[in-house]
Amino acid sequence: MTAYRNGEISHWMRAAHAADGPADPSQRRAVDLPDEKQELAVVGGGLTGLWAAYHAVVDRPGAKVTVLEAEEVGYGASGRNGGWLSPLIPGNRAVYAKAARARGLDGTAAVTSFQQEMDGAVDDTLRILQEEGIEADQHRGGHLRVATTPAAMKRLELTHAADLANGYREQDLQLLDAEALKKRIAVRPALGGLLTRTTARVDPAKLIRGLKAVVEARGVRVVEGARVTRIAPGTVITSRGTVSATTILSCLEAYSGQVDSDARGLGKRDIVPVNSSMVVTNQLPEDAWERIGWQGRECLGDAAHTFVYAQRTADDRIAIGGRGTPYAFNSGTPGLGSVDARTVRTLCERLQLFFPDLQFTVEHAWRGAIGVTRDWCAGITFDSDTGIGVARGFAGHGVTATHLAARTLLDRAAGGDTALTRLPWNEHDSGRWEPEPLRWAGIHAMYRLFGIADRWEESRHSQNTSLIARFGSRLAGLSE
Ligand SMILES: Cc1cc2nc3c(=O)[nH]c(=O)nc-3n(C[C@H](O)[C@H](O)[C@H](O)COP(=O)(O)OP(=O)(O)OC[C@H]3O[C@@H](n4cnc5c(N)ncnc54)[C@H](O)[C@@H]3O)c2cc1C
Repeated sequence: MTAYRNGEISHWMRAAHAADGPADPSQRRAVDLPDEKQELAVVGGGLTGLWAAYHAVVDRPGAKVTVLEAEEVGYGASGRNGGWLSPLIPGNRAVYAKAARARGLDGTAAVTSFQQEMDGAVDDTLRILQEEGIEADQHRGGHLRVATTPAAMKRLELTHAADLANGYREQDLQLLDAEALKKRIAVRPALGGLLTRTTARVDPAKLIRGLKAVVEARGVRVVEGARVTRIAPGTVITSRGTVSATTILSCLEAYSGQVDSDARGLGKRDIVPVNSSMVVTNQLPEDAWERIGWQGRECLGDAAHTFVYAQRTADDRIAIGGRGTPYAFNSGTPGLGSVDARTVRTLCERLQLFFPDLQFTVEHAWRGAIGVTRDWCAGITFDSDTGIGVARGFAGHGVTATHLAARTLLDRAAGGDTALTRLPWNEHDSGRWEPEPLRWAGIHAMYRLFGIADRWEESRHSQNTSLIARFGSRLAGLSE
């Protein structure tokens, strides 16, 4: 394999830096900490943090709002992701329904309204991008999950039925047979697919950096290079000094366990960083696209247990991601995101399996950390006594959910009883991860089981999901 860039945050962030001209690290420290008390301090300059800042100043123009970011805006998952702006609920619908029932509510109705809010959040995101003039290569082509084994096809049929029972609109979903799928994207071994029309593709760095420019223009102070070490009621301590604020929102996702705080949701075992890795190809020539199709620029994924996700970029590359080496002992985070050669090879093999005739080179590989709670569900907490709120646990589905979470946090902080504050992820208790080394062993065992299950289903062309995968899902609490 020829040499490729590795790490450097991501292809998206590198391209954004290149477009800005030569990097000037001093720029990161160009904005001072505020010396007066803030109405809102946001910890973490990812999508959750910036959407919270955005809505805070849109709702109350002139409000004193500061965002504190350890590195630069987009350094975390928000600048590294696959760019699926999708309506997928982060986590397990059955778990949310059960939690709602435990509170005396109708579980199905709770999940249905969650789904409707997620659909609405995709629309809202696209509307705001247009209104604010953010050009993030947004394109609404839906997302298409393909099945390469009979067992995976069966899973897609079950997903289709479950989606309809849990709030998806019929017109937003379509099961495709092999022929119909081929007309969209010629994934060679695919037996069919499930199209979800709501989803849009974005360039993650253009989205997050566009949002930064918009919030700054509206008066938000975004302080980069300010690492928060402690969050306490009314006070945020950073590497560059202390900020006082009435309301503090922690939007640290996979990095949540790294700050010192007594706030609920910020314990070291509340959330773990799980790696997701990506590669991007060279720009593919027109004749390659003629063979592949993909004219609708749908986001593309598969229904394997160790699934991959991909997009056709605005400049005609394929960016494809998957889990690779999932978890670093003791919740290590990925730094600038360099990827091991084996993971890069695996992603290339998956791409080649989809398109056997495709000739491509990898130009850049990177990884980022998704934040995963013990039951893989997201949670939003707000303590009105301390004024501290926390959102976390979007797992691999945060590009849309962060927007909904940010608005929910603000409704909670305002003390309202709204449709958002009633969604089942509010005060959801996900439990805690096991101490090490059990945690490391458990997460690695789960991924091993999923890998074995995929190979089993592929080699036997099996009609049903293997018992191994079912066991893995049970172990992780992922089965719906
Ligand atoms: C490779 C990859 C692919 C993905 N693909 C998709 C996808 O296609 N669709 C989808 O919906 N989701 C996807 N996700 C998940 C999605 O990107 C995340 O759920 C979402 O971006 C989380 O946003 P956030 O703002 O909560 O966290 P982050 O974006 O991680 O932001 C947290 C910020 O906090 C900062 N920080 C850390 N420590 C401190 C500190 N001590 N003080 C101050 N700041 C600190 C970090 O630098 C970071 O900028 C993917 C994730 C990855 C890694």
